[in-house]
Amino acid sequence: MTDTDKNLFGYDKNPTNILPQKYTLDSKIKFRCHPGVSCFTACCGNIDIILTPFDILRLRKYLNLPASEFLLRFTTPIYIEKTDMPGVKIHLDENGRCPFVTDEGCTIYPERPSACRYYPVGMANFHEGGEEGVESERFFFLVKEAHCKGHEEDKEWTIREWRADQGVDLCDEMNKEWLELVMRRKSFGFQATLSEQAKKIFFMVSTDLDKFKEFIFNSSFLDTYEIEQATLDAIKEDDIALLKFSFKYLASSLFGTNDLKIREEKIKAKSAEMKEKRVEKEKEAIRTFEELKAERDRLQEKLEKQKKQ
Ligand code: SF4
Ligand code: SF4
Repeated sequence: MTDTDKNLFGYDKNPTNILPQKYTLDSKIKFRCHPGVSCFTACCGNIDIILTPFDILRLRKYLNLPASEFLLRFTTPIYIEKTDMPGVKIHLDENGRCPFVTDEGCTIYPERPSACRYYPVGMANFHEGGEEGVESERFFFLVKEAHCKGHEEDKEWTIREWRADQGVDLCDEMNKEWLELVMRRKSFGFQATLSEQAKKIFFMVSTDLDKFKEFIFNSSFLDTYEIEQATLDAIKEDDIALLKFSFKYLASSLFGTNDLKIREEKIKAKSAEMKEKRVEKEKEAIRTFEELKAERDRLQEKLEKQKKQ
């Protein structure tokens, strides 16, 4: 079986905290987190909170900051677990606490990151053999850590009710394509490394939609890709449309999918360039061969002369 997306949100750091039971949307759990629990905000420190592109977008809007400033002030660059794909996590303060936590709780609660919403219910997508077109098996699991007293509360929910309460369906929808890119990359392992240029592009597109928009409209991007006017209008005005478009661009540029159409003349120019390179390589190989042959002939001639003497 291949990896699951549970790794990304850090739940597998200590697998003994994961209950050995598969949950469905209708399974029931007892849990409640509120300011009255003795452990209130205990979980908001010493953790890796990886931010998805959707998390970054909603957080920086909530904080009314440009992406670049949000990234600088509140995040640390990382490599997403078990991949060479760069991303960001929340930068903890000098006490190892999340910068958004206070004694009263989370100051960004309405827009808190996906990882904080999922806790303590994780979701796994097992994809047998990683084969294309094979339906993956989705199930849920419960994380039960000793310090978390929420499990001792009486409130009962189905997983479905809990997820609706936490607003994770929207996160799932917005994170899905990006997570698929990460999982796809993970399945390659480290044998096929991403070029430095590809890593930079992945990082820029995944973290800073302002820069990505600039890249679309103020570079040779539109000379390369054929994008419908309606799509261009949408991504100019609507950040969610831009976010969704960014996933298509990443899939196409990193994995060669057909999500974006490359202009015919670019394909022709590229294949002409490749042909020119190939012809040049062939000429070079012939030159090298002839030089070696001439050298060998010279040596042979010399040897024959020596034999005759
Ligand atoms: S973002 Fe909010 S919920 Fe998440 S760790 Fe920080 S303070 Fe806690
Ligand atoms: S440790 Fe559990 S109950 Fe305590 S604040 Fe965190 S999620 Fe809520």
